[in-house]
Amino acid sequence: MTDTYKDRPEPYQAARLRIRGGSIPNRRPTPPAGFRIEVVRIGEYTRDDWDAESYSIFGEGGNPAACPECGRTGFYGPRFAEPERRFRACRFCGFWQDVDGPPTRYLPTAHTCDPWPELSHAPYIWWVSSDTDAYDCPFCGDPVIVAVAVVPTPAETPKHPWWKIPQNRPPSFYRRLWSNWECSAGRTIL
Ligand SMILES: [Zn+2]
Ligand SMILES: [Zn+2]
Repeated sequence: MTDTYKDRPEPYQAARLRIRGGSIPNRRPTPPAGFRIEVVRIGEYTRDDWDAESYSIFGEGGNPAACPECGRTGFYGPRFAEPERRFRACRFCGFWQDVDGPPTRYLPTAHTCDPWPELSHAPYIWWVSSDTDAYDCPFCGDPVIVAVAVVPTPAETPKHPWWKIPQNRPPSFYRRLWSNWECSAGRTIL
């Protein structure tokens, strides 16, 4: 059930979709577009949900919610991207869902270049949608081929240092914590 580095002969083994108790292995080097988590477990996500989650953390200072997929806090929450993208995402297990969209799984990648940062004793993770083949490294600028840069998700790696990140703390705690690293400074949820 548990992946370890040595058990995985090919990079996309890491991209196996796991839903507590079940898994759907990828059958080809690039995960199929529209790869999704069973909606029986994780349902719709509406603009009202996004507003409520955002207000709870950023308005009321409530503890960040646990990820509905992996249950961790500090990594999961509502997010916004220019120009008008509202979604929720977990940088521990890769659960990703746009408002009014299906639940999906993003892939964890890391470029092995010199400037690639460490975060809490592990390489920083750049999450990409499952239909992304390549991207420009945000730290060195070189092209990164997703198929060769995929790493295991922290959620599937029992000894991953991020398991030690304290849980169920207020937003101020996580803001201070993530400010320890340049790549995460300013965030409340990783
Ligand atoms: Zn998660
Ligand atoms: Zn790089």
